[in-house]
This record gives sequence, C-alpha cells and structure tokens, in this order.
Amino acid sequence: MRPDHIAIVGASLAGVRTAEALRRLGFLGALTIVGDEPHVPYDRPPLSKGYLAGTRRLDQLPLHPPAPMLEDLDVEVVTGIAATGVDLAARILTTSDGHTIEFDALVAATGTRLRHLPPETMATTGPPVLGLRTLSDADRLKPFLTTGANVVVVGAGFIGAEVASTASQAGCNASVVEALPIPLQRQLGAEMGALCGRLHQRQDVRLLTNTTLAQVDKTGVVLSTGEHLAADVIVVGIGVLPNVEWLEDTGLDLSNGVLCDSTLRAHTDMVAVGDVARWPNTRYNETARIEHWTNAVESAEHAAATLLGGNDPFEPVPYFWSDQYGAKIQCIGRTTGYDEVRVVAGSTDDLKFLALYRKGDALVAALGVSMVRQVMGFRQLLLDRVSWTNALDAVP
Ligand SMILES: Cc1cc2nc3c(=O)[nH]c(=O)nc-3n(C[C@H](O)[C@H](O)[C@H](O)COP(=O)(O)OP(=O)(O)OC[C@H]3O[C@@H](n4cnc5c(N)ncnc54)[C@H](O)[C@@H]3O)c2cc1C
Repeated sequence: MRPDHIAIVGASLAGVRTAEALRRLGFLGALTIVGDEPHVPYDRPPLSKGYLAGTRRLDQLPLHPPAPMLEDLDVEVVTGIAATGVDLAARILTTSDGHTIEFDALVAATGTRLRHLPPETMATTGPPVLGLRTLSDADRLKPFLTTGANVVVVGAGFIGAEVASTASQAGCNASVVEALPIPLQRQLGAEMGALCGRLHQRQDVRLLTNTTLAQVDKTGVVLSTGEHLAADVIVVGIGVLPNVEWLEDTGLDLSNGVLCDSTLRAHTDMVAVGDVARWPNTRYNETARIEHWTNAVESAEHAAATLLGGNDPFEPVPYFWSDQYGAKIQCIGRTTGYDEVRVVAGSTDDLKFLALYRKGDALVAALGVSMVRQVMGFRQLLLDRVSWTNALDAVP
C-alpha cells in the first residue's frame, strides 16, 4: 500500500533530499519534515570552509532548492521542534512541543551530533571550548578566528583539519592535537594519512600526533606530553554520535545508528537515510554508517524509492571531499583493508597527486589531492568493479 502521509524527522540534507526525491518519483500524498534546529535547512560543508572564513554568506547556505521551493514541493517544514518518541505500531510521532503527528511512513534523517571531551578535562574558567556541527556552532566560533589568535584544534580528522586550515588562513596561530600517530589513518590508511598530514606543516600549522588534551586551564591546554599550549579558543573535532534517542522505545537495533536492510528499510514503512543510517552495503559485504555529504544525497534518493515499493539494494561507492589549505582531497571507494596503495600520477613532494588502492586484483579506491578531474575519472571504473590492471591502464 502506498503511504498517504510521510513524516521525515531531521530537516537537513538527507531529510530534504528524501522529500525532493519522493515528489520526483510521483508521491502525491502529504509530506512533513520535522527538524529541531531553528534555521531553514542548510548545507553543512561550508561551515568549516567558506562560511567560517567569511567568503560565503549566510544567504548562500540554504539547501537547494531553498526553503521557499520546498513550499512549491508542498512539504510542510516544522523547525525548532524535536521528535521525542515514536510508536511504530500506531504510527504516531511525539514531538517536543507536546504534539503528536500521525504518519503512514517514516523517514529517520536525524544525522549525528558532536562527541565531547570528558568533563573532568574542562576548566571552570578559561578559553571557550567549542565544536563545529551546526550553523550556530559556526557563528560562535567565527569571531575567535582573528589575526594572531591562538587556536588549538583537538582531533586531526577532516573537520578539525578544515578548521585549522581556515584559522591559519585567517592569520591565527593554529595547532592540531591528534591522539593517533598518523592523521586520517582510519579514513585513508597510514601512507596517505601521513601525506595529507603534511598539508598542515606546509602552512606552519603545528601537528602534534600521539598526543591528547589532558586538561584545559585558565590560559590554554595542558597536553598528555606535559606541554602547555596557549589558546584563545579550543575547537574539539573528535567525532560524532548518531541521533537515535527518539527511537529508543521502538525495539529497532540502534547500535551505531539505525540498522536497516540492504534497501535502507529499518521497519515496515520506515527507512533511514544519511549519517544516521547503518546498512549492509552488499557491494563490500560490510554493514556500516557513512558520514559523507554524497552518501546523504544518494541514500535519500534510494530510500524514497524503497518507501514507494522499490526493492533494490543500496550499493553505493562512497565519495567524500575535504578542502584544506587550498588543496582538495577527494576519495572514492573503500580504503579499509587494502593490500597496496600506489601513487600513479602527480608528485607527493608537491602534495598534488593521484593514488589508487588495490585489494586482491581489484581497484577498491582512488584518492586525489588537488587532482579533481583525474580522480573523478575513476568513479565509473569503481562502480564497474574493474581489475587493478585495467585501472592502471586508465591512469591519465
Ligand atoms: C562542518 C562540516 C563540514 C563538512 N564537510 C564535508 C565535506 O567537505 N565533504 C563531505 O563529504 N561531507 C562533509 N560533511 C558531512 C556532511 O555535511 C554530512 O554527511 C551531512 O550533513 C549529513 O546529512 P544528514 O541530513 O544525514 O544529517 P545532518 O546534517 O546531521 O542533519 C540531521 C538533522 O536532524 C536534526 N535532528 C536530530 N535529532 C532530531 C530529532 N529528534 N528531531 C528533529 N530533528 C532532529 C539535527 O539537528 C540536524 O538538523 C561536513 C559536515 C560538517 C558538520
């Protein structure tokens, strides 16, 4: 049976794109998006890049099509209200303003929130300790990025690296503290993580690996090495947690996100999309949650089709990008468990190169640093599951 009313919880990229896809696929029933942020749905990637740097304006952030066009799509967007619970059998959503919303089908698009440092490491007075996930977070951080300001970033993941990059370009003295021996090791592997870590050093941003924040004090941070770093602001980028608490009484598997089947269905007439969804990607024989912009878009498109009766597995080749210090890092594919990574074009000395990842005799990923056209050429090859030999033949 086709649903008459679809409720989407989470008014961000995956939620909005699901609504758009449902309309494009011919869904004519009622659509409601419920979001707990006060803003109209906006795009997050510029928050650590152009918006934080002041080169991208607030009115350039809303998701496309912008909010007025959501009205054209006949979608009711309710902002500033959180879903607090759901009865899947009765198909009723409860919200933080004390209301209930009845639905025929439900979309979980609630994304993730920041992980925090342990409270015992905080000081009662001292520099502000901020994170970056939302527009409000970016607005809080922006005024601190002034020439000469000491900025300590905790965590050398993509968001931490982008904040350090933006801070350094604003004339701040930025330092990055990373617990692991190599930055981005989990995402890119040791060899490529180490190369990308050199982007910091090239701009005189100090990267302290094998180091953690022990204590915030009145004037900065004390590190696990005993060193003290002066800080006007501390930015913590140590990962995220999926927003699943509103689904706690449903009996769904909520360990590390909403567990779905291969079609993104989490329950009868319920799908999950974007950062919050965990599903078995049959392409890789792996059940995972992916925190990339493109995955939010592609999963939204797929889950909309599933809700309207589709039964195809969602088998994407993951893709993400990151902009740091004028360089563009792009990665297509899965880098976990590779056997070899080979630089096939460009120069690692210049930090402008293309690398391919091999597992067995297959190409499994391509990484480009400032090689936009070359890396995107491997997308179709990865979708086609080409052999390593054929991939090498395709190197431009
Ligand atoms: C600063 C930053 C920079 C990024 N840069 C890149 C990049 O360069 N490249 C890249 O590939 N990816 C990037 N990303 C990741 C990308 O933005 C995310 O993958 C994408 O936003 C995921 O979309 P989503 O809709 O699944 O989740 P989210 O964007 O997290 O949205 C979920 C929404 O649901 C709301 N919500 C949560 N719980 C409830 C509830 N109970 N009721 C109602 N609403 C609720 C949240 O407040 C939020 O508004 C970046 C992310 C950040 C934060």
